[in-house]
Amino acid sequence: MTRGSLLVDHIGELVTNDGRDGDPLGIRRDAALLVEDGEVAWTGPARHAPAADRRIDAGGAAVLPGFVDSHAHLVFAGNRAAEFAARMAGERYTGGGIRTTVGATRAASDDDLRATVGRLRAEMLRQGTTTVEIKSGYGLNVADEARSLRIAAEFTDDTTFLGAHVVPAEYADRPDDYVGLVCGPMLAAAAPYARWIDVFCERGAFDADHARAILACGQAAGLGVRLHANQLGPGPGVRLGVELGAASVDHCTHLADADVDALAGSETVATLLPGAEFSTRSPYPDARRLLDAGVTVALATDCNPGSSYTSSMPFCVALAVREMRMTPAEAVWAATAGGAAALRRTDVGRLTPGARADLIILDAPSHLHLAYRPGVPLIRQVLHNGVPR
Ligand SMILES: [Zn+2]
Repeated sequence: MTRGSLLVDHIGELVTNDGRDGDPLGIRRDAALLVEDGEVAWTGPARHAPAADRRIDAGGAAVLPGFVDSHAHLVFAGNRAAEFAARMAGERYTGGGIRTTVGATRAASDDDLRATVGRLRAEMLRQGTTTVEIKSGYGLNVADEARSLRIAAEFTDDTTFLGAHVVPAEYADRPDDYVGLVCGPMLAAAAPYARWIDVFCERGAFDADHARAILACGQAAGLGVRLHANQLGPGPGVRLGVELGAASVDHCTHLADADVDALAGSETVATLLPGAEFSTRSPYPDARRLLDAGVTVALATDCNPGSSYTSSMPFCVALAVREMRMTPAEAVWAATAGGAAALRRTDVGRLTPGARADLIILDAPSHLHLAYRPGVPLIRQVLHNGVPR
């Protein structure tokens, strides 16, 4: 017996994501899992479970890796409920509302921003998310991008500099100058708090030349590349991301065959964000086309006050199954191991010895229930770093 050890016993269905025997979810029945020092120390049949200091009886329920939400914009102020209501009444989404949030964010205090991130992070944890990526992108000047990332870094290691979210109003007539600012003083101020760099490569935001320039500067500063690409229409973003070795290209709603081919032959993950299509009443990405081509797919919330104000990974799993024709197993894998791949993390998104003991005990006997019982609070308990939350 190891001091401080914790045994999760009587697991009806343990999702390990170890890929054994051709099952990506690596499901074990009647299993147990031992936690030591915040890591998974052992998994196996319940009847062979070792002794431990403490024990949680899962009572035959399903246990899954904690969700890895690899795409979230949590540092902002205000909300855009009225814009949502107008959209539901027939107005089209263009991304222009981002500037509304920029104004509110610049006017907010550090404490207000920190309280919003903390509230959303806690909301995510209650819904089973144990790893989250957090982007800047509502400051869009040197001081406010740097403080957004400084606050984000208080909550996660996976922080992303998104100074190139949109061109702010004061640079509307001189986007080249804004790209110069992003690559120069803004990147210098942001890089100490950032692991990744991201660009919204879309008509009305940044074109391929600007995106390439910004991402290259970020790479030179030691940041990893990710990209918002092909959300609102076809474009060069996905192929640019693959060319630059991006960890992930996100949205992937409008893809040409060449985009799918490029992704299929690469290490770049396609991260699908069905909350955005739900909240903007837009066509969903063709997940089947990507999966059938052999592309690694992740699911994330895109949590933000404009186009997807959900923090719920179970909701995204349900959407992926119902609206994007992913199987429940594919959706659960994409929301856990897929998210980890999108962040190039090997310590999360799986429950195998050595992984972080981030796990969910469901109020259900199987992972199938996440899509089968949409909107139902099925997260009975969450362990984060081995600690019950
Ligand atoms: Zn986004």
